[in-house]
Amino acid sequence: MTISTPVPTLTLNDGHTIPQLGFGVFKVDPAETERIVTDALEAGYRHIDTAAIYGNEEGVGRALAASGISRDELFITTKLWNADQGTESAHAAIKTSLDKLGLESVNLYLIHWPTPQQDRYLESWLALEEIKAAGLTTSIGVSNFQIENLERVITGSNTVPAVNQIELHPAFAQKDVSEFARSHGIQIEAWGPLGQGKYNLLELPEIAATASAHGKSTAQVVIRWHLQTGNIVFPKSSNTARIRENFDVLDFELSADEMDAINSLDAGKRVGSHPDDVN
Ligand code: NDP
Repeated sequence: MTISTPVPTLTLNDGHTIPQLGFGVFKVDPAETERIVTDALEAGYRHIDTAAIYGNEEGVGRALAASGISRDELFITTKLWNADQGTESAHAAIKTSLDKLGLESVNLYLIHWPTPQQDRYLESWLALEEIKAAGLTTSIGVSNFQIENLERVITGSNTVPAVNQIELHPAFAQKDVSEFARSHGIQIEAWGPLGQGKYNLLELPEIAATASAHGKSTAQVVIRWHLQTGNIVFPKSSNTARIRENFDVLDFELSADEMDAINSLDAGKRVGSHPDDVN
């Protein structure tokens, strides 16, 4: 399936394509989700990243239904929450998510965190293979997986995850996990692409200088850095102007020198939780 959108698409290891730029809805108020996702669809986004734990799948679903956009033109991701890891609970969880979204299938279903203390992610991964075979999702992947978690699902199943969705921004580039994933055909999705507002990424002089050189905002430069790095990216905003701003990144290009300057900002600084600590 190829979605027609001005956004560049990447091909997943199962042959399906994914729009490289989408819209994330973590911390989007469930009461406002329908309006905010409607704004995003009107701005041009066709890829929405939600999760069961965000509590806003119903609002996403209402916005999709009201948009009149054909299902074929949309790429929808949701995620299996930690409390639902395991075979039976994963099968039940995807059905609940689909009911809330009002969809017959999603495009991508992810294990949200490896939760190493539970030690059920391989079992859950085998359940995701069954969920895919049942047609409830087109592609399957993981999130917050470290190299050892990826190795375990690759060797313990018949499916290499299509993506690994990890915290990633210029100050936390996760080169080791990204290089391992890409060498196995796993695409990288960058969560917290703008540093979640917790890191002063958008005020760094290297990014500010590049922004003024292009007449763009610092957020647009960071999103452009993700796209040119090859990351799949879905910045979140609850503000209509910023939703549009974050999509308006297809008409300029960072030079090799500008990319190098931003690459040099990697400080190994995580702003979110370490995957070993989430259980
Ligand atoms: P982001 O890096 O996208 O940052 C969002 C923050 O940046 C908000 O405070 C937003 O404020 C602000 N912001 C957005 N656009 C701009 C702009 N143009 N200029 C200045 N500030 C801006 O963080 P997220 O955590 O939301 O990550 C993106 C998505 O990744 C999530 O929505 C979710 O889909 C996914 N995710 C996945 C996780 C996982 O464990 N798999 C964990 C976390 C996120 P405002 O809303 O006011 O504009």
